[in-house]
Amino acid sequence: MYIDTHCHLHDEKFTDIDSVVEEYLKNGVDIAINMGCESTSSLQGKLLAEKYDSVYFAAGCHPSDSNQFNQNEFDKIAQLTSDEKCVAIGEIGLDFYWEPYDKEEQKQCFLAQIELAKQEKLPICIHSRNATEDMLKLLKSNKDKLLYGGVMHCFSGSVETASELIKLGLYISFAGPLTFKNANQLLEVAKFVPDELCLTETDSPYLAPHPLRGTVNTPKNIPVITATLAQLKNKDNVEFANQVKINAKRLFYKLK
Ligand SMILES: [Zn+2]
Repeated sequence: MYIDTHCHLHDEKFTDIDSVVEEYLKNGVDIAINMGCESTSSLQGKLLAEKYDSVYFAAGCHPSDSNQFNQNEFDKIAQLTSDEKCVAIGEIGLDFYWEPYDKEEQKQCFLAQIELAKQEKLPICIHSRNATEDMLKLLKSNKDKLLYGGVMHCFSGSVETASELIKLGLYISFAGPLTFKNANQLLEVAKFVPDELCLTETDSPYLAPHPLRGTVNTPKNIPVITATLAQLKNKDNVEFANQVKINAKRLFYKLK
């Protein structure tokens, strides 16, 4: 019933993947999309997808790893995209939070992968931190390349920013912070985003939802986030979970 559209099962915090998968399946989560951070974790995603029916993956280079993005890295990522379980290019974007960062280097890394997504007919999973203005500008000037759409992962901005992203044809994904006590602005965003453009994710092992904050997050916690979103929208929980699944399958069209 549930889908986790963004997680990092390749993370070293997960020492026993068999039991992580078993637990989330037991919790009604039947699909988890593993996001790559660079070519190595993207390849790990592919291997996990080969081992577990419920795992799909995205391949990409995260902005914080853009300093190691070169032709070789690009080729390795590009090679993974034809895999039947590679559903997106991600996670890619801009991160002006973790210092030191090189804005131009990040933009080139992001743009090269937006091109790749267009070429490979795949949607993109976007990471944006402390970079709203540059992000919107870059996306707007490359709108023609976003033919297969995309999603702003772990959205944390304003209603105005969400509105701009929706105009660009992008989905908005909600994660654990929606359940935090200080989520005031996000609650407004959640009410604003049309049901058919909402996605949910854990970003595990990070960002465990309330009241599990501080623990290692896993896809088994996605029902908590989906239920919070359904409640904010005055929707039946099961119905809304199904809506999110339909949305995910529309965007990530390679999902079975
Ligand atoms: Zn992530």
